[in-house]
Order: sequence, then C-alpha cells, then structure tokens
Amino acid sequence: MQNRIQTLDELSSKVTLTESERSAFSEANRVFSFSLSPYYLSLIDPEDPDCPIRKQAIPRPEELLRKPNEVEDPLAEESHMPVKGVTHRYPDRALWYLSHVCAVYCRFCTRKRKVSDSLETPHRSDWELALEYFRTQKEIREVILSGGDPLTLSENQLDWILKELKTIPHINQIRIHTRYPVTLPMRITDELCEVLSTHFPLFVVTHFNHPKEITELAASSIEKLIKKGHVMVLNQSVLLKGINDNSKVLEELNYRLVKVGIKPYYLHQCDEVYGSHGFVVPMERGMQIMTELRGKQSGICQPLYVKDLTGGGGKVPLTPQYYIEEKDGKYKFQNYRGIPFEVSH
Ligand SMILES: *Cc1c(COP(=O)(O)O)cnc(C)c1O
Ligand code: SF4
Repeated sequence: MQNRIQTLDELSSKVTLTESERSAFSEANRVFSFSLSPYYLSLIDPEDPDCPIRKQAIPRPEELLRKPNEVEDPLAEESHMPVKGVTHRYPDRALWYLSHVCAVYCRFCTRKRKVSDSLETPHRSDWELALEYFRTQKEIREVILSGGDPLTLSENQLDWILKELKTIPHINQIRIHTRYPVTLPMRITDELCEVLSTHFPLFVVTHFNHPKEITELAASSIEKLIKKGHVMVLNQSVLLKGINDNSKVLEELNYRLVKVGIKPYYLHQCDEVYGSHGFVVPMERGMQIMTELRGKQSGICQPLYVKDLTGGGGKVPLTPQYYIEEKDGKYKFQNYRGIPFEVSH
C-alpha cells in the first residue's frame, strides 16, 4: 500500500501511456483518485493500450464525459442510509461501508462519489451507531462488510467488528466484499486468516474480471483464505467493454475461478455511474454471451447475470429468453441452441 503508484510521473515511468491517457490523467484524478498497486501494475502490459488490466486501472478520456443517464449514486445508496455508512435496501441484509481506501481505484467503480475520498473515512463512533442499528433491526439476517476495501482495516479492527456482529442473535451470516485477492493478494496474510477462522463461518466475495488476474499469487491467497481462514469464497465480476465482453474470456475466467476454489456468483451489468459509458456493454450482448455459456459450460462455473436497477430498485436477473409461452396447457421453450421444446409441466 505504501508503494502505490499515484502520480502521472510515476505511472509514465512504468507504462508507455498513449497521448489520450496522458491528457485524461489529471482531470480524472481530480474526479476520482488514481491508485495502482505495484502488484497490479505487474499484470499490465506496458506497451498495449488494449490490455484488459490496464483499462480497469488507468483513466481514459471517456471517463471525463458524462452522459445524460449517468448519475452520482446510481443505486441510490445514500437515500437508503438509516445511519452513516449503512445501506439497508433489502429487508434481510445490510451493506456496511467500512473504508474509503482500495489498492487500485477501478475506473468503473459504482461508488466513486465517496470511495478514495478521505473525508468519507468512517470513524469508530460511526461503527458504534451502525452496530446499534444492526442490534435493533431484527429483520437484518446478514451484514455485508464493504467499502472501499474492508480488508484495509487491521486484523484487530476486523476481529472486533466480527466479534460484535457475531454476538447479535438475529444475524445469521456475515459476508466480506474485497478486491484485495485481485489487486493486493499479499494482504491475505496468515494473521488475517487466523482472525477470519475464529469467526467461522464467513463468506468472502471477491472481484476478478479477467482470467489474467488469476495469477499464482492470487490463487495461493484464495487457497489460504479457504484452508486457513475457513471461508467460502465467491466472485462477482462486472461485464466490461473491451475487457471481458466475449464468451471466450468469460468462459476462461469462470473455469479458472472454479479451479482455484471460487464459485462464480454474479456478473454485473455496469452501473450507470458518471464516466462509465466507455465500459458499458449492451444488455442484449450480455444475454447473448450468457446464452453461449449456458449450453457450453458447467453450471458450477456460471454466475447469474444481473442489473442493479438505477434509482435503487435492487438487483434483477437478466436472463435470456428460454421460456416463450403457455398455450393449451403446454409450455413452449427454446434451448440454448434456439431449438424449440414443448413440455406440459
Ligand atoms: C447487492 C447488494 C446487496 C447484496 O445482495 P445479494 O443479492 O444478497 O448479493 C445487499 N445490499 C445492497 C444495498 C446491495 O446493493
Ligand atoms: S475495489 Fe471495489 S470499491 Fe474499490 S474502486 Fe474497485 S470497485 Fe470501487
């Protein structure tokens, strides 16, 4: 973390930047901070402007434009916030913003309005208020530690938070959303896993978007999380233009995830956050890719493709049309190859 690359000078000494990347940098950095861990930098092809890792981390001019549909807070998280840092949208689970820091600031981040902004750092007094809210809201069965990256907190802080949550009788499960296995796998230390294992069971949801991100180091951090931390590891990806928007890349990503012990959970349609249109893949294309995967790849390998509705409606599955209609007690379907089938129930 101390060696993160944060300036244009540092970056341009490591990566051959294009003219447009160079010109976008300063303004983009003002809107949403730039940060790149040396490890994630090592995955970038310094000579290839189309490198899928580079596009996630290095600003491009598209990021500076704002389309009419693009908003500050696409998921209306701030208006579903009963106490600072807690978004409570679905009755049984609440999302808890614990840190504003990440090792790499993903240029498509849905929470860029506050992630990377030090004024948004949650304090101990905010934690107490959040915990009090969880204690009094009996319908909350799950708390999701999020941010920023919640694994930015120290082992002691995490231990304390997990212990407090585990004492709340109605809380059934705890989940941690982190991108550190992807951008800073060395954060997955023995000490961290020791803490996680004492709060068994825990669910960790990570964020791999491209097969190139599943390096040996990333794979060993996952193995450690599973074997030493005793956690269940899932993955959510974002469907990103020019990065993973074809079935070959996603198929490979899914296989590699499963191979290192991760269950693919969600594939997200990119949120309508300001500066995101350079990443957007049309939903029809996303559904076409999912259809191609459906027929080809094991069900274990497949995530659910979802759109988190702009305005705060929550997540809805984007499923290709397999079911067509019901007629005279017969249900008409087409399979993934477009071949029609008729069944009675
Ligand atoms: C996505 C999200 C969750 C988690 O939803 P799951 O479908 O259970 O993964 C919880 N709260 C908020 C506000 C969310 O955006
Ligand atoms: S790791 Fe998550 S919170 Fe951090 S910048 Fe990337 S998408 Fe945003």
